[in-house]
Amino acid sequence: MLSKVGVVGAGVMGVGVAQVCAQAGHPVTLVDVGAQQLQRARKLIERQVRIDHMMGRSAGADGDPAARIRYETGLQVLEACDLVVENAPERVEVKRPIYEGLDEHCAPGCVLIANTSAIPIAKLASYTSRPAQVIGVHFMNPVPLRPTVEVVRAEKTSDEVVDFTCRFLESIGKRFVLVNDGPGFVSNRVLMLTINEAIRALEDGVADAESIDRIFCECFGHTMGPLATADLIGLDTIESTLDVLESEFGDPRFHPAARLSDTVRRGHLGRKTRRGFFDYRA
Ligand code: NAD
Repeated sequence: MLSKVGVVGAGVMGVGVAQVCAQAGHPVTLVDVGAQQLQRARKLIERQVRIDHMMGRSAGADGDPAARIRYETGLQVLEACDLVVENAPERVEVKRPIYEGLDEHCAPGCVLIANTSAIPIAKLASYTSRPAQVIGVHFMNPVPLRPTVEVVRAEKTSDEVVDFTCRFLESIGKRFVLVNDGPGFVSNRVLMLTINEAIRALEDGVADAESIDRIFCECFGHTMGPLATADLIGLDTIESTLDVLESEFGDPRFHPAARLSDTVRRGHLGRKTRRGFFDYRA
């Protein structure tokens, strides 16, 4: 089943989502606010598709996957989509007008998929007149490499939309774990506390960044420590996700560590700016 896919937000996650959908054969329209973001996305996707082709990792669909992606600004271009995956920054005040706009412009049958880190899906659904058609899919980063996603069913999400979403995920080669709605779902309710506490341990001088991560990798057998994970996700996204969790749960354990906020204010956002808790400039 091929669907017309809209992808909103061409940052870390939107680029990966657009790429895997196009590689599976779906026609994709990728929307961001400006030409600069779209040019950057196009360059990244075309390079990755070329590398995958050279390495023999191209998916089954015929033709050039990169040619299946249109790059656009403005949500009105998504009117013919069967589904839209929203990947805008993790702030309710940014996402709310997007859901209102998608509700206005998308066809009545279009499914709206929220790729949020922590905002309850019911909250995003409440900004539309079609809450039964809103569902969460928490893709993992990097999207093309992570085999499994967390699917988040909100109270009003219909059975048909859950089935449609699961079939769509199978079509792009993703396995899924279905969970119920709630701030941070399972993944980030747990992970964000760990990352925040690892930053506090760094702040308190318990150990340096490398030693903290080595404990997780070498003692617990994780493939990546919490600070390198934070750099991969993006420190601005970590801070906004903690803000969402703190306000949703009213729990100060989620208050972003001072060292995290300082690092974000200095413009060091992790891998995407090549500096975070570790240095990627070499
Ligand atoms: P990002 O900051 O890298 O990218 C966000 C993109 O959205 C930017 O290109 C920005 O220009 C664009 N944007 C802003 N306002 C927009 C609008 N009105 N219309 C269209 N585009 C708009 O963020 P990201 O890391 O890709 O995260 C996107 C979402 O995915 C967030 O909700 C985040 O919590 C979630 N998420 C992130 C990760 C991760 O590891 N980074 C993992 C899972 C989920």
